[in-house]
Amino acid sequence: MNLAKFIKRGYAPNPTPIEYLPNFSRALNADIDVYIKRDDMLPGAGGGNKTRKLDFCIADALQKGCDTVITCGAVQSNHCRLTLAWAVHEGLDCHLVLEERVPNSYDEEASGNNFLFQLLGVKSITVVPGGTNMLDAMQKVADKLTADGKKPYIIPGGASNALGALGYVSCMEEIMAQMFAMNLTFDHMVVPSGSAGTHGGIMAGMIGNNINIPVTGIGVNRPKAVQEKAVYDLANAALALIGVDAKVPADKVVAFDDYVGPGYSLPTDAMVEAVQMLARTEAILLDPVYSGKAMSGLIDLARKGYFAKGSKVLFLHTGGSPALFAYLPTFRAAK
Ligand SMILES: *Cc1c(COP(=O)(O)O)cnc(C)c1O
Repeated sequence: MNLAKFIKRGYAPNPTPIEYLPNFSRALNADIDVYIKRDDMLPGAGGGNKTRKLDFCIADALQKGCDTVITCGAVQSNHCRLTLAWAVHEGLDCHLVLEERVPNSYDEEASGNNFLFQLLGVKSITVVPGGTNMLDAMQKVADKLTADGKKPYIIPGGASNALGALGYVSCMEEIMAQMFAMNLTFDHMVVPSGSAGTHGGIMAGMIGNNINIPVTGIGVNRPKAVQEKAVYDLANAALALIGVDAKVPADKVVAFDDYVGPGYSLPTDAMVEAVQMLARTEAILLDPVYSGKAMSGLIDLARKGYFAKGSKVLFLHTGGSPALFAYLPTFRAAK
């Protein structure tokens, strides 16, 4: 696939490491070998998966002559933190619209990503109730900025449109090249599945390159069927944008909803166990909202025998550790 025809800024110039997790694999005791793709180590203040997607979206904003970006997310959004970080890097203004998916969850004084919004010099934060049409809310901010003579560019939540998903098509090609260089192939891949650009881009890269490694998505928010439809649509929109004459088959898209717990961003015991287990076996930090729940899915599936004995399983670490600092009581209560 020729991704070179799309402009990007070059935010991810080097491959992120793929590492074997010997201590974690042993602790899991499920006769599988777990490897990790360290997208938590991507550049951008605090790291994480949105850097790959923003590489394409911000290039588009700059090409269109925009001087301001507007995006949206939850109150502890990693995507908002990284959009703001790359905007600062490019000399663009950045305005955020935050959705209180959990009622009254916005706290100006909160730690984690919320603290970083202020530190990185956000131009404005608009807080709206859960269920608000976020594109409309961002358009309202854009209209006001336009009236003030600015040229705003709206990036959708998670930068999860077809353009942003190219970042994870490219990640899949990076993984393919690393497998070749390491003389290593995986039997299965496990990825977090939120606004779907990551999972969708991985599926598009997998099918577009005929790689044929099964991918299991772990949802963090929506019911299974809704999430799978979102991933399916975005994966195929990405393939169409690239101009690939292939489609991701619906039956290859799997996004379990068994690990969401009481709701988006709300802690589960299994998430706490997963975060502690990876920290204490490999000293790698997950996050409470995405990668921690996704890893809780991998752990449970491994214990249930979902992966064939002797499998090599690659976990995509999408980052998010700054959000840990907004969950201190949860982790302190668990010891
Ligand atoms: C946004 C995010 C995800 C989910 O990625 P999507 O492309 O939105 O599905 C996973 N992990 C972290 C840390 C994130 O910030």
